[in-house]
This record gives sequence, C-alpha cells and structure tokens, in this order.
Amino acid sequence: MEIIFLGTGGGRWVTLLQKLRTGGFRIQGDNINIHIDPGPGAMLDLRDAGINPFSTHACIVSHSHPDHYTDAELMVEAMTRAMTKHRGSFIGSLSTVDGVDGFRPVLSNYHISQLSEIRALKVWDKTEIRGVKLEALPTRHSDPTAIGMKFNFKEGAIAYTCDTEYFSGMESSYTGVRVLIANIIRPDKKRIKWHLCRDDLIKILKKTEPELAVMQHFGMTMLNRLDSEARAVEKATGVKTIAAKDFMKIIVKKDIRVQYRSK
Ligand SMILES: [Zn+2]
Repeated sequence: MEIIFLGTGGGRWVTLLQKLRTGGFRIQGDNINIHIDPGPGAMLDLRDAGINPFSTHACIVSHSHPDHYTDAELMVEAMTRAMTKHRGSFIGSLSTVDGVDGFRPVLSNYHISQLSEIRALKVWDKTEIRGVKLEALPTRHSDPTAIGMKFNFKEGAIAYTCDTEYFSGMESSYTGVRVLIANIIRPDKKRIKWHLCRDDLIKILKKTEPELAVMQHFGMTMLNRLDSEARAVEKATGVKTIAAKDFMKIIVKKDIRVQYRSK
C-alpha cells in the first residue's frame, strides 16, 4: 500500500497564495484507491502526479473547511466516470454530508444521485471500503463534527489526525498505527486555537509510537523550517519523523520507504 501526498499546504494563507499544493492525499492499496481531503487544485495535482482520477473508488472529507473539500464534487465526477456510471463512495463528517452549524454540505443532490454510497461518520463510527476497515477518530476543531481517521490495511494501520487542537487522551486513538499523518500548521510551541503545533506532536508521540510520523498541512510560519521542525520532533521523541513534500510517496510493506519526486 502507498500514501501519496498531493498537497501538503493548509490554512487560509498558504491555500489562497498556493505556497504549497492543497489537493489532499491518497492511499492506494490492492484494489482500492482512496482520496482524502481534496482541497483546491486536487485535479491539477492528480494530473501532475500522473494519477488517473478515474481510478478513484472512494473520497473521504474530514470536515467542511474549503482547504479540505473544494474539489469533492470533481472527485465524485471522476469516480462516476464524468457522471455516466453509478459508482463511488463518499464518506465524510456530518457537516460535509448534512451541513452543521452554518457549514454547508459539500455535495449537490445532482452529484449525490450518481454515487453508489454516501455516508456520514460520527466519532468512533466504523465502516468498510472495499475490505478496508475505517474508524472515525475524535478531534477538537472549529467544525465540531470534524473527524480523524484510522484505516486498517493488511499492511498495518494508518491514522490521520485531521485538523484538531491537542486534547488530553487523543493519543489513545493512534495506538498501534504504523504511520501517523498529522496536520501541523504551526512550528515550535506557536499554538493557535483548533490546530496542532510541533510541540503538540511531540506530546502525542511521547505517548504513542508509530513507526513513522508524517507532518503535513503546513501554514505560513512552517514554510522555511519544515525539515528542521521534523528533526526537532524526532530528537525529542525518538520516533522517525518527516515533513511531507508535495508528491512524496510512502510505501508501506514489511518496511516503510519514503520516495521523493525528483524535480
Ligand atoms: Zn479545518
């Protein structure tokens, strides 16, 4: 199974200025291609990564903020072969499916009509996509229904924090995962409400020990210090930690390999 980072940017400034790409990431396994959080430019990022959008089986959107959902309807059009076939799964937070607290649903009824499946997940809900088990994890974010995710592939478990601030006990969600993907919008201890900073990741990794921690979803203050922030986390925790790069690939087999795209 492999994880491909199409866009590692996050937050308003990096998204609006496209300082990093914002197309989300994909997990591609045997017989399953999942696109997670297709933000602005996801289709362009797929093209530039050489990935055929029609190969997508499921689109998962963690919450109703535009840097995570803008291209969700295009992903539905890709999954349904340009709306000509009845296929594809959309899975998302309650806000993305039903709308919550002023956050509107991210798909039109027209797009929903062509999907095989649309499902809203609340925290701790479990589902399965083409044989891969998925559990929704708790967050503390300004979209109160935002969900993290834990996937159980045959090669092992992968977890994604989603946008969240640190809260006591959140580490227990990530027990036993091989790869933890964490949205670290700020460096150092420069915490902002609703988000994780580097020191929060250190706190998390001291209580749970994935084989690899991957930081992504970077805001402006992270841009010039991605690798040094990753090294600081690794030094403080002993957990191998990297800062994701656009188009970076993580190949998870018996061992875990990281592949960067040459420019
Ligand atoms: Zn958000």
